[in-house]
Amino acid sequence: MRKHIFNAGPCKLPDSTLKNTAAAVLEFGNTGQSIMEVSHRSSDFQAVYDEAVALFKEVLSVPEGYSVLFLGGGASMQFCMIPFNFMKKKAGYVNTGTWSTAAIKEAKMFGEVVLVASSEADGFTYYPEFTIPSDVDYMHITSNNTIRGTELLTDPVSPVPLISDMSSDICSRPVDVAKYAMIYGGCQKNLGPAGVTFVIIKDEFLNNVVADRTIPTMLRYKTHVEKESMYNTPPCINIFAVKETLKWVKEMGGVKAMEKLAIQRADAIYNYLETSKMFRPVVKEGSRSRMNIPFLLKEGYEALEKEFIDFCKTKNIVGIKGHRSVGGFRASTYNACTMEDVNVLVDAMREFEKKNA
Ligand code: PMP
Repeated sequence: MRKHIFNAGPCKLPDSTLKNTAAAVLEFGNTGQSIMEVSHRSSDFQAVYDEAVALFKEVLSVPEGYSVLFLGGGASMQFCMIPFNFMKKKAGYVNTGTWSTAAIKEAKMFGEVVLVASSEADGFTYYPEFTIPSDVDYMHITSNNTIRGTELLTDPVSPVPLISDMSSDICSRPVDVAKYAMIYGGCQKNLGPAGVTFVIIKDEFLNNVVADRTIPTMLRYKTHVEKESMYNTPPCINIFAVKETLKWVKEMGGVKAMEKLAIQRADAIYNYLETSKMFRPVVKEGSRSRMNIPFLLKEGYEALEKEFIDFCKTKNIVGIKGHRSVGGFRASTYNACTMEDVNVLVDAMREFEKKNA
């Protein structure tokens, strides 16, 4: 039986992605080869790659003048590639939790980090307001904070090239891509399996690469743009799965439909958390992510943490343990998560609360 999966990533994927990728593992089209066996230089695989790029551009309404890349190395590799390529003297960063902290750490190896805003003093429980300085080489934000469950739901206007880590909210709402010089993330939440990273980069932004710095070939964005992600062997099967997920997003009605469903899922959980006598939300109103919803047991009930996780197991619910760095619980409700999954979770919370009142 398929579980109700609330994992933070890797996470639940659409059934069609699983089914069609599984079929392609056994035989990819009429090639007589598996998707794991076919050459990445073959016209058959090139068609998969081209379709993935075209679908990504279509569902996100990516304007002309942007390249889409599918690379290895995870979003974490982007944390160093961005300053390596684009930081001349200083760059602006907002610190909204673990992943932006990691991005800041890498950037500091290449120059000065201007900490434009941070919610660290308040346990990263809200998305801080910020004004982007005009004297930095670029501005970096993390639109959705997977661990803390805060999300920026608008696309800021920026006087400098704006870069966003959208690992955990890509394709969950329409995005005004034109406002960004670059959007990137690991694909293992809303797009596919772990092992492939997406990069949407404005071609003009490549003129901002630090000219007098030696950048290893694999870490140069220009390498990957010029070779259309095929400088080296790309993660073929992962790209196939991403293509399948993007097809599903399109068939479901695109990112607008994804947003509507995301709001429904998050509202159902937050509405319950607001009225519960046993559980409470962590994130302040106005900053709440639709993708990751952290929650805690209220005072007096904390000892029931393990019991609740075990209770969820009996309901076929998996993945609601909070990140090891923060504890508590977290429900990750990405695109493929259904209202049925959410209802099962909320019913379980209600039942557990009644049982232990
Ligand atoms: N940024 C965000 C927002 C993330 O959620 C994650 C991973 N969960 C990362 C970066 C790091 O991604 P990766 O593991 O692909 O390097």
